[in-house]
Amino acid sequence: MKKIAIVLGTRPEIIKMSPIVVECQKQGVDFFILHTGQHYSHELDKQIFDDLKLPAPKHNLGIGGQPYRKQVGLMTKEISKILDIEKPDVVIVQGDTISVLAGAMAGKKAGIKIAHHESGLRSHDTSMVEETNRVVTDHISDFLFVPTLDALKNLQEEGMDPDRIHMVGNTIVDAVLQNLDKALNTGKKFEEHKLSSRGYILASAHRAENVDVPERLKGIIEGLRLTGQELGVPVIFPVHPRTKFKLKEFNITLPDNIIEIEPVGFLELLKLEKHARLVMTDSGGMQEESFILRVPCVTLRDNTERPETVEHGANIVSGVEPEKILAAAKLMVGKNLNPTHFINPFGDGRTAERIIRILQESL
Ligand code: UDP
Repeated sequence: MKKIAIVLGTRPEIIKMSPIVVECQKQGVDFFILHTGQHYSHELDKQIFDDLKLPAPKHNLGIGGQPYRKQVGLMTKEISKILDIEKPDVVIVQGDTISVLAGAMAGKKAGIKIAHHESGLRSHDTSMVEETNRVVTDHISDFLFVPTLDALKNLQEEGMDPDRIHMVGNTIVDAVLQNLDKALNTGKKFEEHKLSSRGYILASAHRAENVDVPERLKGIIEGLRLTGQELGVPVIFPVHPRTKFKLKEFNITLPDNIIEIEPVGFLELLKLEKHARLVMTDSGGMQEESFILRVPCVTLRDNTERPETVEHGANIVSGVEPEKILAAAKLMVGKNLNPTHFINPFGDGRTAERIIRILQESL
């Protein structure tokens, strides 16, 4: 039995790694969690661990809140030290964050195999730091765990060695299926805010290219206001710490029909997504989840690395101009996303099982 290092650092990684942790526990696989500390606020970290009943990380580096280059350097150095002590057989990273890049580089330097889950996603927007992180990580990884056919195509076009590529799906489906019933039974925010099913919009925005640019952030807020007004429903807006900071810095006040709430746990979020009339977001994970839950989505960006959601008619990329956001929302709202032939391109909920099996057989 081989030893697996699960490196994570942010909310989406905790959520998408959770089925892998569950699978390791189920199969008695030797593993440990190494948390870089990239996300360190209670809402984005501990609350998610608690919700998903995950074991506490064995190592927490506490490296958050630093500029990009410093964070990459510090994380790579500190992860390397832990890998030297723990000597795992493989390092698994997930997604496109600084923690992913640092985990992969530290593993590479130590001569340890690297597995990248959610490999092959491309926005083709090289100004996004996430694009750099995912491209570099893919090119130095030994196991490319690919979620969709579009992602597979991207890797093939980049000439990646087919022996490294494994089409497995995305653990977000596992995470949603494992937690949805519990979420619907336990979520309290829905009742707390006196919401009704399909009676509100769920919104989120946190990407640097959106919230760090005053005109773009203002455009998003105005687009949400207009959409809420047009549909006659409130906009529930769990505000990411980065966005909260930027709203204050740019002196932007939220209009009355946008209801600001603290970031919620994963179970609360799933319930809010499931009952929303529309999800409007720049989050990668929420584009996938709204698709899985069959709730129409408007992506508040200029591109998406989840084209499957758009190809299936479940998502639209609106940009951040208020009128375009409103027009996109009007196109999507009320769309029937339940055709019988609707096959989920993100997988069947058994992705973590496949990943662990492939690693155990190949190492
Ligand atoms: N999420 C959450 N609480 C919130 C907002 C989002 O648990 O208040 C979850 C959401 O369900 C999704 C993940 O966080 O699984 C997405 O994370 P984020 O948007 O921060 O990152 P991205 O997916 O864009 O990388």
